[in-house]
Amino acid sequence: MPSARELFFEVHRGLPREGPGDDASTARALALAAGLPSTPRVLDVGCGPGLQTLTLARLTGGSIKAVDLHGPFLKELAARAVAAGLADRIETVRASMSELPFEPAGFDLIWSEGALYIMGFEAGLKAWRPLLAKGGYIAVTEPCFLTSDPPAEVRDFWTVYPDMKSPEQRLAQIAAAGFKAVGHFTIPDSAWWDDYYTPMTARLRQVQARYQDDPAALAELVRHDREIELRRRFADHYGYVFFVMREAAD
Ligand code: SAH
Repeated sequence: MPSARELFFEVHRGLPREGPGDDASTARALALAAGLPSTPRVLDVGCGPGLQTLTLARLTGGSIKAVDLHGPFLKELAARAVAAGLADRIETVRASMSELPFEPAGFDLIWSEGALYIMGFEAGLKAWRPLLAKGGYIAVTEPCFLTSDPPAEVRDFWTVYPDMKSPEQRLAQIAAAGFKAVGHFTIPDSAWWDDYYTPMTARLRQVQARYQDDPAALAELVRHDREIELRRRFADHYGYVFFVMREAAD
């Protein structure tokens, strides 16, 4: 059997996105960041194959450093940037989000869709804040529980992210980290399906067919089916919330 990691990338390679998201939500969050410079310096952390990077480049007119640890995703983004005529404003950087190789105060906007949880919400805000220019913004999406008492199946699945919180708890952490939350909203359910779970389902069927004689591989792959099924049944109980915040200092 291939390793769990190999199977993960067989399912994920070449998907439009590597997490829930859509252009309308990216645009809505960006609109909350009022007063950005006309060509802002943007950092996109955990950019993956970078659909949101392209949208940010189009909408801001700025220049973007797009960081990810996984080289093949950066290659996909670079190819997409060339195809979209945006290559001169998007630079891919292979680095870890916990050791970002940038000078302090160099960015007007730090963006991160579906990736901050990897480092941890509070740890990430603390580590990235010094990279912001005065008055700069951070915009992130973060998985949250949306009801106070989600069903056991939902809780069980999300033990993969033990620090999962409610939006209100995250807002309190944003304030405690020295930011003013300028807005937040839950991205629509369609943003889980159109560019993520729907193409992932199609891919999963192909990969399952490839490993039909390999019970161990099929047992590993079933985790993806369970994740998608959970969303179909319990969308009301958890979601990705966009948080847009600004440095609160003076
Ligand atoms: N923003 C993209 C990808 C989200 S998935 C989208 O919404 O489509 C999370 C991304 O974080 C993946 O691309 C993964 O390769 C990257 N990643 C994981 N650990 C990382 C780390 N330590 N530093 C930087 N990127 C990391």
